Amino acid sequence: MTTPAERICIYPGSFDPITEGHLDIIRRAASLYDRVIVAVLRHPTKPGCFTWEERVDMIRRACAGIPNVEATSFAGLTTAFARQVHACAMLRGLRAACDFESERELAQINQRLAPEIETVFLMARPEHTAISSSSVREMASYGCDLTGFVPEALIPEVLAKFQG
Ligand code: ADP
Repeated sequence: MTTPAERICIYPGSFDPITEGHLDIIRRAASLYDRVIVAVLRHPTKPGCFTWEERVDMIRRACAGIPNVEATSFAGLTTAFARQVHACAMLRGLRAACDFESERELAQINQRLAPEIETVFLMARPEHTAISSSSVREMASYGCDLTGFVPEALIPEVLAKFQG
């Protein structure tokens, strides 16, 4: 009898920085797949607010208690990265109708590029639909309390990024 292959999914994104909304999607995916690889896109023209090394490090620490989750970064096509790590699925989160149109377009392009890899969507919990990395950055720039928006342990360093 052969052992069934590991079911690996990637969760690609900017994660600039990781939020409680992302973390909830990661936890839920971890119960559906054998391995979840959270993958920070090293965008060629958009450096972002946090460096990709900082983002990967923050994701690793936020997910330290979830044994089948790992974090890394990648450059280039998401489908190429997914194939490289033998993923069967690419995970995305949906918050509201406005996410749907861009995600549909992306999913259809990726389906063309790699028909063997499914894009899987998880719906955000109602309490997370208003959370985005950009709203977190905006709040942090005003020194607002980020409780509930960003994993607790990461709050001081997110705020520190915007001080001075
Ligand atoms: P990208 O720049 O690729 O959109 P993000 O880091 O903003 O990267 O988001 C990665 C994925 O997580 C996207 O599918 C996005 O829709 C989803 N996402 C972002 N914020 C939330 C949230 N609060 N709840 C659920 N999913 C979310």
